[in-house]
Amino acid sequence: MAELKKLSESRDLTRIERIGAHSHIRGLGLDSSLEARAVSEGMVGQQSARKAAGLILQLIREGKIAGRAILLAGQPGTGKTAIAMGLAKSLGQETPFATVSGSELFSLEMSKTEALTQAFRRAIGVRIKEEAEIIEGEVVEITIDRPAATAGGSASGSSGQSSSAFKTGKLTLKTTDMETVYDLGNKMIEALTKEKVQSGDVIALDKVSGKVTKLGRSIGRSRDYDAVGPNTKFVRCPEGELQKRKEVVHCVTLHEIDVINSRTQGFLALFTGDTGEIRSEVREQIDTKVAEWREEGKAEIVPGVLFIDEVHMLDIECFSFLNRALENDMAPILVIATNRGITTIRGTNYRSPHGIPPDFLDRLLIISTQPYTEEEIRKILDIRCEEEDVEMSKDAKVLLTKIGAETSLRYAINLITAAALACQKRRGKIVEMEDISRAYQLFLDVKRSTQYLMEYQSQYMF
Ligand code: ATP
Repeated sequence: MAELKKLSESRDLTRIERIGAHSHIRGLGLDSSLEARAVSEGMVGQQSARKAAGLILQLIREGKIAGRAILLAGQPGTGKTAIAMGLAKSLGQETPFATVSGSELFSLEMSKTEALTQAFRRAIGVRIKEEAEIIEGEVVEITIDRPAATAGGSASGSSGQSSSAFKTGKLTLKTTDMETVYDLGNKMIEALTKEKVQSGDVIALDKVSGKVTKLGRSIGRSRDYDAVGPNTKFVRCPEGELQKRKEVVHCVTLHEIDVINSRTQGFLALFTGDTGEIRSEVREQIDTKVAEWREEGKAEIVPGVLFIDEVHMLDIECFSFLNRALENDMAPILVIATNRGITTIRGTNYRSPHGIPPDFLDRLLIISTQPYTEEEIRKILDIRCEEEDVEMSKDAKVLLTKIGAETSLRYAINLITAAALACQKRRGKIVEMEDISRAYQLFLDVKRSTQYLMEYQSQYMF
């Protein structure tokens, strides 16, 4: 299927890993009762906001969030973007996370509603299933579904119940050749027949001894994914028969599909970002196609998280667009953020909390974020050093924390890379205080930059 091939190509390229500002965030860092752990999954402090985000996570999982949005209100650099990303990560590693800032919507070379539509579609994932041949040497996951009746075992208490009519097992192995797949698959069927595992269990089978180990009930948990490996592929084996074909799953966003189909150079436009306006007929065709795939069981929608920063910059037309967009059944989770108090709603003469019109305010669940303590700043900087693979002396960390507390957390985070380069230049291995000072002198924080501008303003153009 040519269309699908194109999609998988695009995904492979767009998935190139980068160390971004929030790449250390792996979730909300909550325990099983949704309480925020002090430091967990890359998250530090901000516990009441994270706990509130955890409750929202529960609402989303129970399907009770439709038509509502979340507002994160707090000072710059207090982790609003980080919390929105943590929420997306907690919904699953494949959950799309798109960000756009209010001011950006007015500076792009397209109408603001087109920019908002693109942002929404970047936050809607489509999981597409495709069949392909197993290639030798790759990691495969084998799923065996067999009716209990043909399994031949004497399942205690399970016979006669329709819910346990199928025995399912999953086996993960690194293949070297197809024979191994067949051989282990057969051993697994034996294990299933002996009723060692129950329907829904995830098991691993030792290649040499044939020993079966239970990994857990679902493969949705990170522990199981670790065991299964990142390249997990699926082989369905009805009636215990092994097939040579596997099910491959691609995850793309609706926006990626739009772009690929909207121009001749559509595929490249994904990288340049120069997508231009996308015609509504293209989107309609794509929506129809995706609806067909959903009906045929070939695709599923994965609602993601759309984060709109500086929401006070949106005008009344944008808010009415958001009001409508939230009613769509494919709508992503909308998280908006602002650091403004009572201000004018753009495009009107009215003032309101956060510059948000009352009808939209009515839809919001509001979470506030608080400034960090010095200790929390130190911990966040520690995590960022690790993320950026930068070794830093204790003294240098103390100095960087002081700078973070006096300027801003984001400025201190930015100094890590600059200081590491300064260290490299003097052929050092560990970032020391001198490297931090050098970076601090070279790059101004907002306060010093403003002071400089005030002192020398006569030399600038008006
Ligand atoms: P703004 O209002 O300026 O957009 P923000 O409130 O969205 O700021 P972030 O961009 O989330 O702030 O935070 C700045 C940096 O600090 C990011 O790199 C972010 O990942 C990191 N960070 C913020 N809060 C936390 C936290 N609680 N734990 C770990 N990292 C954090």
